[in-house]
Amino acid sequence: MKATSGWRLFACLLGSVVLCAGANQSQAQNPPPADHPSVTVRGQTYTPRSILARNMGSEADRVTQFQPHKIIGNIYYVGTTTLSSFLIVTPQGNILIDSTYEVNAPTIAKSVADLGFKFSDTKILLGNHAHGDHQEGDAMMKQMTAAQVMAMAEDVPALRDMKPGGKEHPIDKILHDGEAVTLGGTTLVAHLTPGHTRGCTTWTTTAQEGGKSYNVMFGCSLRPPGVVTPEVEKELTGSFKTVRALPCDVQLGDHGAQYNMREKFAKMKEGAPNPFIDQSTCTMEADIEEAMMKALLAEQQQAARP
Ligand SMILES: [Zn+2]
Repeated sequence: MKATSGWRLFACLLGSVVLCAGANQSQAQNPPPADHPSVTVRGQTYTPRSILARNMGSEADRVTQFQPHKIIGNIYYVGTTTLSSFLIVTPQGNILIDSTYEVNAPTIAKSVADLGFKFSDTKILLGNHAHGDHQEGDAMMKQMTAAQVMAMAEDVPALRDMKPGGKEHPIDKILHDGEAVTLGGTTLVAHLTPGHTRGCTTWTTTAQEGGKSYNVMFGCSLRPPGVVTPEVEKELTGSFKTVRALPCDVQLGDHGAQYNMREKFAKMKEGAPNPFIDQSTCTMEADIEEAMMKALLAEQQQAARP
């Protein structure tokens, strides 16, 4: 979603003056999405408004450090309570997926350090999709780490428009559907899953734990916009199919609620099975958002009837 002035003011009060210079530039005064239609998936009822609230949490949730933790193998969570940021550690430096809002840059750097890694070892910065809550901080992160910023071609125009404090959005390499990014023996594959944005990217990799290899999927948002155009319907329909076909043992997402992050984190215990290895949530987001897209389309068709 786009920023609203309330949270931004709050975040700026917490953050530094420098980080907040020009903070209002990329924001839009979006009204909250409608509280209809409603869909029930796996016993839970959702509306467009409730899904957004589930994703974003409170203003404080977006800028408050969530306890950084290992997910599996060389993959760690370094985001806030509701905005995901993932660190992938390799012997040749680290990969970061999602800078989130620019005000969160020091928080993410702290989370990396709290885990015992160096933020300055960040060599590659990747993104989930071209919305401010996931990639607004890219320019700041590049200043802090000199990481190479890579972006899916279809999201490049939207990223170029993202200029916090007037800073140009850095893009060092343009990626295409199916392209692999490799560093220090770890390979991530970029899958184009458009609809929420044109270049929404689902990343996949494998991680090793206990002598076994697991498929890890960093899901992109599949949330339909308020008005589902034929183009968006076509894009999302293809994306639901793509996501369901990807190998997945560990599902992650751009907001923790998309994979029950808090519930899984609470179950982490020495000697217990890793709660993040859980195929049951792999298609959860596709199921919810496909039901919502169909309900929105039905509502639109009903409204268009004379
Ligand atoms: Zn978004």
